[in-house]
Amino acid sequence: MSQQPGQEDPHPLRDFKEYQNALFTALTGATRAANAIPIADLGYFRSLDRGFAKTLDSCSEKVLKLSNNMLKYASVEEAEAAPRFYDIDDVMDRFNIAIDVVDNLLEKADVGLDELRGQRNRTEPIMNQTSPVVAQVATKGKADYKMLHAQNIIRPQLRFKDTIDNSSNTPFIPKLTFKPHSKTPLDPRITELQSLSLTSSHKSDEILAASSLAHPYEYEIKHIEYPEQLFEEKPEQIYTPFDDTKATWVDNEETLKEMCSKLEAATEIAVDLEHHDYRSFQGFVCLMQISTRDEDFIVDTLEIRDKLWMLNSAFTDPNIVKVMHGATSDIIWLQRDFGLYVVDLFDTYHASKMLELPGHGLAYLLKHYCDVDADKKYQMADWRIRPLPTEMLKYARSDTHYLLYIFDRMRRELLERGNANHNLMRKVLADSEETSVRKHEKDVYDSEYGTGFNGWRNLLSKWKTAINAQQFAVFKAIHAWRDQTARDEDESVRYVLPNHMIFSLLDKMPTDSTGVIGCCNPVPPLVRMHSHDIALAIQRAKMSTGDKKSIVSLESMPAPRHTRYADEDTDMPEIRQEDRQKLEGRPAVKDVDPKLFDLALIEEQRQLNYQHLAKPESFLFGTTTHIEVSSDVSSKQAADRIRMSLRLSVPGIEDAILHTEGVMEEPAEHVYTSKTDRVTKEEVKPVKPKDSDIIVVRETPKKRTRKRGGPNVFNPYGQVVDAKFKKQPKVASATKKADKAMTFKK
Ligand code: AMP
Ligand code: MN
Ligand code: ZN
Repeated sequence: MSQQPGQEDPHPLRDFKEYQNALFTALTGATRAANAIPIADLGYFRSLDRGFAKTLDSCSEKVLKLSNNMLKYASVEEAEAAPRFYDIDDVMDRFNIAIDVVDNLLEKADVGLDELRGQRNRTEPIMNQTSPVVAQVATKGKADYKMLHAQNIIRPQLRFKDTIDNSSNTPFIPKLTFKPHSKTPLDPRITELQSLSLTSSHKSDEILAASSLAHPYEYEIKHIEYPEQLFEEKPEQIYTPFDDTKATWVDNEETLKEMCSKLEAATEIAVDLEHHDYRSFQGFVCLMQISTRDEDFIVDTLEIRDKLWMLNSAFTDPNIVKVMHGATSDIIWLQRDFGLYVVDLFDTYHASKMLELPGHGLAYLLKHYCDVDADKKYQMADWRIRPLPTEMLKYARSDTHYLLYIFDRMRRELLERGNANHNLMRKVLADSEETSVRKHEKDVYDSEYGTGFNGWRNLLSKWKTAINAQQFAVFKAIHAWRDQTARDEDESVRYVLPNHMIFSLLDKMPTDSTGVIGCCNPVPPLVRMHSHDIALAIQRAKMSTGDKKSIVSLESMPAPRHTRYADEDTDMPEIRQEDRQKLEGRPAVKDVDPKLFDLALIEEQRQLNYQHLAKPESFLFGTTTHIEVSSDVSSKQAADRIRMSLRLSVPGIEDAILHTEGVMEEPAEHVYTSKTDRVTKEEVKPVKPKDSDIIVVRETPKKRTRKRGGPNVFNPYGQVVDAKFKKQPKVASATKKADKAMTFKK
């Protein structure tokens, strides 16, 4: 607290306002005082004035002690196990542990305030967000393409009744529990496996059994007898005017059942889905639009996700045509999220191909057949938003509203242009069968071969700069971390760490958390949270191979092995020849002269970091990240502890008294003198040291461009190591010994 010595601190509980004021004044004072010290010249001034150096050291120690006290009180660990900084360099290297503590405190404050207001039940997950607002509308190019985001959306996954299994080593088990319109019975192994709910602990033959399961409706799709009227000419039925059409929001069992009976009475229905895959690893369906000839339904699939199996009666009925546009993803999503399958699909995309139309997108078909200008700007919207904004609802409806009329028109053209066997129509149906018979498979992660859509091969093939063996090891490590984190946190890999940031990490290969954070702008939340894990992964990978000479090319790697349930279609395409040449034509990344680094020290430091970081649990939160408000410490005790730990006297600029450890010291006047009064470097020129002198000039790592009498070279601690001096400084513990070693001859 900034105050006159001897004065009482305001009590945080009795007089919070005063306490807050005092705290704020102290902090601004301290900041101002710190800013007044010319950081870049710190080392220089130290070397000039022993008194100043002493003051600085005792002050540093005091601050370090205070910080460690705070860590001790605020962390969830036992006092002895609490995280602590060992020295100033350690603070720089592992500043994230302080961030963690502060986050922990803020989180506790948040929880406390919510409980005070009665907003949060302790046992409930944290999901007290207010209704979302559309926060950002960005226009991109002439297509008026808009991204709609909302903030504070409650993760819908939290309410899903089915468990989301993102693990890479367990196969997808079909969700189907009963099979309407079946020609073959439901495979009993499916029911059996459903009851097992596979985990990695299961025997591999059970896993194999699940991965070899056939598509439950494969037989029905392949042996479908299409209704005769599908090939009969009949006049098109024009769509009802959009604004006059009844639109029903389906978000409960009752309306769902009403809708189902209407669908089961129809001969054709149009279906479309909206999907979200940014804040989820596998993605989930947010909305299902279904249109009959005279009604639109918008199903809130987040709300009644576990009841949608009822739709199988209509969806697998071979006498009800399901008209969809470009249904490949929809087919996968339906079985993955709801256990729904489609028998009797007419995919208007395949029809547009067969009819050789100039465009194949839905927007083109809407324009061509209905003269409707499709407003595709909401395609990328965040479909989790509830209540759904009117405009988005309108957009969603328009995806199916016109589709049955388009189907009529296309069907007629196919029949007219085909032969007596209706070959064109049959071909479209056959192509649609291929679409509907597709099976959902989980994305298997293969760290070794990098296969799969989100495997590293795919990504590496996009990177056009040569990478060496060490970088390749680091690349694989970062990539694997991203995959695992995305699975654990149920987030998309691009939310966890976008591709371009993988490459900026690869460029710098930082081995401390500050460096990791520095590579990413803006820092993704999970990167910030796990920066030390990433640093550790990079460090391990770097240590695994020091080979910076050999260039890695994809073709020199072992051929990817066949993964049993990997999606064949999403495997990495062959690298094109010209890309390969580009890849190999680049020069190797320049090696850094190892003589500039004290490799033994780096190794030692890394091993230390490694031991810290390798702990499976969080530094601060133990094995759990769920923060409980401890009930055995009263808020008064907690506040007192914090207050006690914060008893720091920081000088005002005027009196400049460094009040440390009860020892009053004279103000170190050169710290606060104005720039013009300072002793300049020209006046006191350091004599070039003899080889026997050990020279270390400390400088902040950020000001790396600063020159001081010749080119500065920095070791990994940001210390200047003058390359001209033959002797490398022996810096065992990055602070203390370096300080002692600081002898500048005058
Ligand atoms: P649609 O069939 O056009 O309604 O699209 C269905 C879902 O696919 C959307 O909700 C998006 O999640 C996704 N989607 C469609 N087009 C794109 C695109 N160009 N980029 C990314 N996702 C898309
Ligand atoms: Mn669609
Ligand atoms: Zn759509």
